[in-house]
Amino acid sequence: MTIPFLDLGAMHAEVAPQIEAAWREVSGSARFVGGPSVEDFEARWAAYCGTRHCVGVANGTAALELALTALGIGRGHEVIVPANTFIASAAAVAATGATPVFADVDPPTLLLTAQSIAPHLTPRTSAIMVVHLYGQPADMDAINALASRVGVCVIEDAAQAHGATWRGQRAGGLSTVGCFSFYPGKNLGAFGDAGAVVTNDAVLAERIRQLANHGRCQDDPYRHDILGDNQRLDSLQAAILSAKLSRLDAWNAARRRVARLYAGALEGLPVRLVSVAEGAVSSHHLAVVRTPERTGLKQALASAGIATGIHYPIPCHKQAPFLARRREALPVSEQAAGEILSLPMYPHLTEGQVFQIAEAIASFAAMPVAAMAGARS
Ligand SMILES: *Cc1c(COP(=O)(O)O)cnc(C)c1O
Repeated sequence: MTIPFLDLGAMHAEVAPQIEAAWREVSGSARFVGGPSVEDFEARWAAYCGTRHCVGVANGTAALELALTALGIGRGHEVIVPANTFIASAAAVAATGATPVFADVDPPTLLLTAQSIAPHLTPRTSAIMVVHLYGQPADMDAINALASRVGVCVIEDAAQAHGATWRGQRAGGLSTVGCFSFYPGKNLGAFGDAGAVVTNDAVLAERIRQLANHGRCQDDPYRHDILGDNQRLDSLQAAILSAKLSRLDAWNAARRRVARLYAGALEGLPVRLVSVAEGAVSSHHLAVVRTPERTGLKQALASAGIATGIHYPIPCHKQAPFLARRREALPVSEQAAGEILSLPMYPHLTEGQVFQIAEAIASFAAMPVAAMAGARS
């Protein structure tokens, strides 16, 4: 029996009637951009994240870029970004004209820490972009303390961390501004591209709203005091997100169960899950394991009908657009990029499927080294 990497169909089936109702409501209202369904989702998402404000935007990359721009970050500024992240974190910094400065990550969690950030602070550093990668929140107490000591702001890229918590507080609400993607494959996914920014700062929220809506003034849609862009959230996506939000906690709990099953089933095998820090509750967007035999294991799982992914095979500082900017090595990120493998992870993955995956890993691990080398060639 084959096991897919992700099964969105099973999630959609659970909320099909609510999604139908959302579709009918938006089509009946004939409000396709903005309007009540966007306002309703923004209120729900702000409440969920424990923040005062939410601005719905077109996608996660726009959320990051708008947040940076609204904070006044641009040409001449440096923003510290982890090398181990999706390219959009760094690309959003570059799009503002600022320079992404790549920092290495912590070996057990593969996330930024205050220690890994500190060596990269310069007088031009304006912000630290923390990425709660794989759904596991970084140590925000230490990072916020460092940031306030040196007077820079902190932005969270929470695109993989919907509902994750650090010391009981939800990701996105742990810093100046939190950015989300609702790309279909995320823990909370739309039927297309969508994103949001959350913050407790009313002035910042209003500036982001203005930037995302052609620089329009709140009280006069045909006065433009600043130059903006069009990065608004569609009404239909907002209505679908509201319908799916009621299931997010249950889906995250189901993902947590899958993560526990993996941890138990992989015990004693030479393949280990990336660890979640004390104080963090992960949203388990991805189930990432590490093994020096990554190529062989990926192939063995594929022949057993098990789909896997790699998040991400090339650290950001080694991607072509950023290659010229940096000479020193970031050894933890570079080594991890060659060893990480994302196993299937979704709420409806069954106990039987997890054991089937663990068995395939165990039989690969039991192969003699020579056979493993042979399998790779
Ligand atoms: C998905 C993702 C983004 C980008 O979101 P889009 O909605 O695809 O633009 C940014 N950062 C991280 C860590 C992501 O996983």
